[in-house]
Amino acid sequence: MIQLIRGFKDVLPGEVELWQMIEKTAASLFEDFGFREIRVPILEHTELFARSIGKDTDIVEKEMYTFEDSKSDLVTLRPEATASIVRAYIQHRLYAVDPVQKFYTIGPMFRRERPQKGRYRQFYQINAEVLGAESPLVDAQLIFMLVEFLRRLRVSDTSVHLNTLGCPKCRPAFQKELHRFLSKIKTQLCADCERRKVKNPLRVLDCKVLACREAVADAPAMIDHLCEECKGHFETVQKSLKKLDIQFEIDKRLVRGLDYYTRTTFEIQTGLLGAQSAVAGGGRYDRLIEELGGPVQPAIGFAIGFDRLAEIVSANNISAPEIDLFIATLGEQAKTAAFEWSCSIAVSGIKTEMDFSDKGLKGQMKKADRLGARYVLILGDKEIGEETAVLRNMTTKEQTPVPFEGIVENLKIKLKNS
Ligand code: AMP
Repeated sequence: MIQLIRGFKDVLPGEVELWQMIEKTAASLFEDFGFREIRVPILEHTELFARSIGKDTDIVEKEMYTFEDSKSDLVTLRPEATASIVRAYIQHRLYAVDPVQKFYTIGPMFRRERPQKGRYRQFYQINAEVLGAESPLVDAQLIFMLVEFLRRLRVSDTSVHLNTLGCPKCRPAFQKELHRFLSKIKTQLCADCERRKVKNPLRVLDCKVLACREAVADAPAMIDHLCEECKGHFETVQKSLKKLDIQFEIDKRLVRGLDYYTRTTFEIQTGLLGAQSAVAGGGRYDRLIEELGGPVQPAIGFAIGFDRLAEIVSANNISAPEIDLFIATLGEQAKTAAFEWSCSIAVSGIKTEMDFSDKGLKGQMKKADRLGARYVLILGDKEIGEETAVLRNMTTKEQTPVPFEGIVENLKIKLKNS
């Protein structure tokens, strides 16, 4: 039997309802904050990701699904959505009317990481991005919206981790100092960090290897090397979050794995996920639009790990929706009548089901129970003879006769009002 690819997964009915509920919660909240949905392709030119995420990052170096298509174009299954959104903003000149554009998108991403619980090779993210806005109030509002989203899904045990990565004005001097520090402790670093130290020293700061974490405990931090503008920006973000009653921790080691980040970076962590504790992450990328050939415009965004979120929310026991009506029939004549009725009732927005196999009445009642039907309409030989079906309320067990004459309209009224 052919199995699915390692690190990929099916989202089956039962779980899908939960995913839909999360999607609806995100769309409704984000739209209230002025975000509009954007849908971008899953396949892009490899260069888009190499230039934005950065050649020396784990994602671009070893995790992308990249291949040449039959005409030798080098393409990649997107490992994240921000680069594509920025590309669309530039390509369609979405900045021309108003540089400030707010987008959200929900969809699959692909990274060839080592699969484990909470880490997949095809995983889903919910992204929200504000392009063209520099104000630190936007940073605070975005974090506020993210926290509210998790609150609406009743995700508890979360903490906001906040850091700043400075800007091209203050970061180079800090990087030099960090490099000097890392040269002194080089024998204590893992092989990956040994490499990162030269190409991307910031990444050493958030290496998960315990020996590296201990070795960089006293490393210099960006937060102590900010220029006046970055310092002012970060202070306003913090002040605004406090005004909005959002608790946060400053995490000097929070670097995030993508090169394009500047200034504010943040992560939402939870104790409910084990090793993969980050449920969402994001930050500013003030240079990316320009670096990808667009106008000089700042931006900020976040990505929520959908799969991880669904795991937490399903542990909260939010159950699948039940159905309104199940029609149980006996005999061909009853089945034909029920078939027509069920179609008419279902199109009016009442969730209706019937059984198309030849199960007995008892088996059908069991199925209705399993589906969580609120009502069952029973239609056997006796009912056909008397031209009156029986409607059973599955909660109170009360049974009432419903004449065939006008039955569809009567049921619509009854079920909509109960
Ligand atoms: P990133 O795009 O790396 O900033 O990640 C943002 C969020 O996406 C993380 O906080 C995770 O919740 C989620 N995420 C990232 N990589 C994976 C993965 N391989 N599997 C599942 N979720 C992931």
